[in-house]
Amino acid sequence: MRIEEVQSTTKKQRVATHTHIKGLGLKEDGTAAPLGAGFVGQEQAREAAGLVVDMIRGKKMAGRALLMAGAPGTGKTALALGIAQELGSKVPFCPMVGSEVYSSEVKKTEVLMENFRRAIGLRIKENKEVYEGEVTELTPEETESTTGGYGKAVSHVIIGLKTVKGVKQLKLDPAIYDSLLKEKVLVGDVIYVEANSGAVKRVGRCDAYATEFDLEAEEYVPLPKGEVHKKKEIVQDVTLHDLDSANARPQGGQDILSMMGQMMKPKKTEITEKLRGEINKVVNRYIDTGVAELVPGVLFIDEVHMLDIECFTYLNRALESSLAPIVVLATNRGICNIRGTDMPSPHGVPVDLLDRLVIIRTLPYTPPEMVQILAIRAQVEGIAVDEDSLAHLGEIGDRTSLRHAVQLLTPASIMAKTNGRDAIAKADLEEVAAIFHDAKASAKLLADQAEKYIS
Ligand code: ATP
Repeated sequence: MRIEEVQSTTKKQRVATHTHIKGLGLKEDGTAAPLGAGFVGQEQAREAAGLVVDMIRGKKMAGRALLMAGAPGTGKTALALGIAQELGSKVPFCPMVGSEVYSSEVKKTEVLMENFRRAIGLRIKENKEVYEGEVTELTPEETESTTGGYGKAVSHVIIGLKTVKGVKQLKLDPAIYDSLLKEKVLVGDVIYVEANSGAVKRVGRCDAYATEFDLEAEEYVPLPKGEVHKKKEIVQDVTLHDLDSANARPQGGQDILSMMGQMMKPKKTEITEKLRGEINKVVNRYIDTGVAELVPGVLFIDEVHMLDIECFTYLNRALESSLAPIVVLATNRGICNIRGTDMPSPHGVPVDLLDRLVIIRTLPYTPPEMVQILAIRAQVEGIAVDEDSLAHLGEIGDRTSLRHAVQLLTPASIMAKTNGRDAIAKADLEEVAAIFHDAKASAKLLADQAEKYIS
């Protein structure tokens, strides 16, 4: 099993509209300024979220979750992101919508599990040193008999050596493997072992984190003698899901035949329970040996009333796990039936889960607050708008929704350019507002002209 060097697969597009949110914007005493860290208004909810951050830091949130109740567009996603940022700059944030679990291809609990793992980070931190002593290379014969042959790994350096043909997989014995773990060997490291004779020999480059360190023997490049110790800190941030998907990737070769094979087969290899179990084992070992640090992030589930009883049962159980993120739920529903049952419950959430929740309410924005948020978004997106037009856009937001108003910014700026203007003017806004309907207007249109549509 390999944990390869992986690329993070955070759902970027969903976080993109919230780039201006840099935290909760609270003062030293925990109170909220009217504007802080990109956050406008919603003071009470921000202060409450600040307390939740304190609880998380004090390890008082284990097994519990946060529920945000409030109308759409009242900044629930922004608050959840703010919490994640207050916890640290590289804390994973994974937003999802309850209805995402209903896919015809993937089990509901599987979707939830995947998102759970997207919200759990792993930070691998390393100080690397270059070995100083005299180094000789393993002879090809020694390479082949490395299994069990040597005493302990003494050092490792990073050299950007290319892998050459005729790669041999070396299996190290458990003693060497343990000392590699102690030495915190990372992908890309060149590994030296101390032979029983006392000579230091170069084994090869570590190409993967593995339960058995498979080392690739490489072209034997003599190392300059008497290298000085150099320290370099390398930090790698990945999520458990990154590790899952990297290891589920079909492992084909680069030759034409295997490329063809990959085209015929479905691209995506399943991430199985077994694979996750294996990854958890390796991750736990890295944590125990201090190679890696767990970074629990924030899983945000919007419209949580869309989840059904089966998902809630799963959620309850998942919250208990030692590898659990901070779960933030959001809903705008009052009392409604729990999906999959005919039992009504507050927010459509079963009572046993409700018992574990800390609840925060978000309130609608005032028009000046909307204008302020719109001004921040315009600035972040590099869009020029004059004050009059901003006020007008604020009114549109008040009538429709904040999200709709924010979404009008880009088309309006294009419209302004078409009309030969540098900055958005009221006329541009009126023009785009007439073309793009907000959800409410669209629903009203459908209702008014119901007879014209296929139902
Ligand atoms: P909800 O989750 O309650 O629907 P949201 O956070 O998703 O709300 P949107 O409706 O998407 O909010 O809001 C539109 C835009 O306004 C987003 O870019 C969001 O970041 C921003 N926004 C919302 N509330 C605030 C706030 N209090 N301060 C600054 N920006 C905000």
